[in-house]
Amino acid sequence: MSHVMNTYARLPVAFSHGAGSRITDTEGREYLDALSGIAVNTLGHAHPKLVAAIAAQAGRMLHTSNLYGVTGQEQLADKLCALSGMDEVFFANSGCEANEAAIKLARYYGHKKGIELPTIIVMEKAFHGRTMATLSATGNRKVQAGFEPLVAGFIRVPYGDLEAVRAVAEHHNNIVAVMLEIIQGEGGIHLCDAAYYQGVRQLCDAHEWLMICDEVQCGMARTGKWFGYQQVGVQPDVATLAKGLGSGVPIGACMTGGRATGLFGPGNHGSTFGGNPLACTAALTTIACIEEEGLLDNAARIGALIRQGFAEGLAGVAGLVDIRGHGLMIGIELDRPCGDLVKRGLAAGLLINVTGDTVIRLLPPLNFSEADARELVERMLPLIKAFLAE
Ligand SMILES: *Cc1c(COP(=O)(O)O)cnc(C)c1O
Repeated sequence: MSHVMNTYARLPVAFSHGAGSRITDTEGREYLDALSGIAVNTLGHAHPKLVAAIAAQAGRMLHTSNLYGVTGQEQLADKLCALSGMDEVFFANSGCEANEAAIKLARYYGHKKGIELPTIIVMEKAFHGRTMATLSATGNRKVQAGFEPLVAGFIRVPYGDLEAVRAVAEHHNNIVAVMLEIIQGEGGIHLCDAAYYQGVRQLCDAHEWLMICDEVQCGMARTGKWFGYQQVGVQPDVATLAKGLGSGVPIGACMTGGRATGLFGPGNHGSTFGGNPLACTAALTTIACIEEEGLLDNAARIGALIRQGFAEGLAGVAGLVDIRGHGLMIGIELDRPCGDLVKRGLAAGLLINVTGDTVIRLLPPLNFSEADARELVERMLPLIKAFLAE
């Protein structure tokens, strides 16, 4: 019997080591990694520059405390603000923690305005994490069931429906924020026209709400822009990061700008590990590599190649619903539940994912090559076609 708590339906494989877009299991079989540990391994596996930077930092010190100044935090916050157009950063260790900080900020903002029961508008099919507040914000009953009472203070609307947001504004005077993902990741790679996000931004401005973008999955260059909101021409007041930020070393961030800046003071929030020297080194090196290796352009170009490859290869195939996404955040929606494709992919030496039941999700490392992309499409097409033909 395993002594690891049984919280995941795990696939029957474990890995030993990797290099770039390839990873090898404990039996010596090699796989093409088109998932990156769910959008985490920005630079693929064992990137030499990241390995060296982490090792060097470990040789100096791993951790101090937020009781003291942390040099890497200052540098990383400067860099993130320069890239994001934000003003301040709080460092956490994961996506749900970054979102907890954002939710606390929105409530604090409300209380400062005299709103006693501040309420945040959230979206159907959203995913914001597994802590009590973030699972309450999440739009998936499966994540919440059994954990009631949920955290109060959220109102849910259909994603992409600007009128629904407007209607909430008319009927409630305690709204303080709208929280959304520019591309819903766990929900099934759902995205809307830029006009929707711009409309949300306008409503937030009109009502002095905070616009909170959960960029945990779509941020950090994955879509071909540094942040998903830059893809659709909006600037949020709060944006959260985690997954790809440290390329595998746990780190999260809650960034603020506009009317969300300067809200928190000493004592309002904290984290023992948050932004420790090791994590900040990993994030700074990840960002440096994205810049030096042109990975924004690569994500955009290779993502387009992959989508085009599937569009051509699956043209006219019955059962294909849609191929969508930006950069290397790609969804291929089928007309039926297709979770079995994950196992078939694994058997064929491919790491892929299915989310929202019917959507094949691809999140390759941002340094995926053209050859990797061609290989991925060529090897996946027969799997998808055979599945749809059954
Ligand atoms: C993964 C994810 C989270 C949760 O991140 P954890 O690090 O697992 O807590 C939150 N929001 C989005 C959009 C995510 O994709």
